[in-house]
Amino acid sequence: MYHQLLKLGRQLLIQPTCRLCRFPLCPDTEADPICPPCHDRFQLKKGGLYGSAPLPWHGLSYYDGAFRTLLLRLKRRPDDRQLSALIGCLRATLPMPYPAVLVPIPSWKRRRANPLPGLIATTLGQVRTDLLQRTRASAGQHHLNRQQRLSNLSGAFKVSAHLQAMEIWLVDDFLTTGGTALAARQALLDAGHQVCGLICLGRTPIRCLRR
Ligand SMILES: [Zn+2]
Repeated sequence: MYHQLLKLGRQLLIQPTCRLCRFPLCPDTEADPICPPCHDRFQLKKGGLYGSAPLPWHGLSYYDGAFRTLLLRLKRRPDDRQLSALIGCLRATLPMPYPAVLVPIPSWKRRRANPLPGLIATTLGQVRTDLLQRTRASAGQHHLNRQQRLSNLSGAFKVSAHLQAMEIWLVDDFLTTGGTALAARQALLDAGHQVCGLICLGRTPIRCLRR
């Protein structure tokens, strides 16, 4: 009886739980910190999502439904446990060898800036936050068409001068039209850097872009 209680106590103390929902993980499963129901619920893609338009990008799931709600909550209140699990999942889908330099896309808000791009880049690898700056706040993008969005963002970034040319992956929490990423890429290209593409957690589904 004593030994059984001790065993149960040990299991309760050391049994790993899902980092997203805290549901106990089966001890026999591999070291995946996310439970199978969460993989389904958030539609986390084992091999990741990737594409080439409007620039090469890698992501983890569609920025939609439960995953969109989760990212919006993490943006307001970052949770290390959940973020590190998602970013670990994203890392496993990225092509190796690992990108040399990661540049988070800076937020245009001075107060209450979006912390996710910086947190994702820092967790993933070698990050440079001194390279790319936002020069001005752009107007809200939602009511603009594609051409207006691009001109709205033109010149919205500046790049630190006198730095050796680098091979860069941009990092953002999600990718929608790509207008911001294209403007950031153009500023980096103009400064002589090479931009491989964008790494993000979520990709807005095409059907949502056409709304
Ligand atoms: Zn879970």
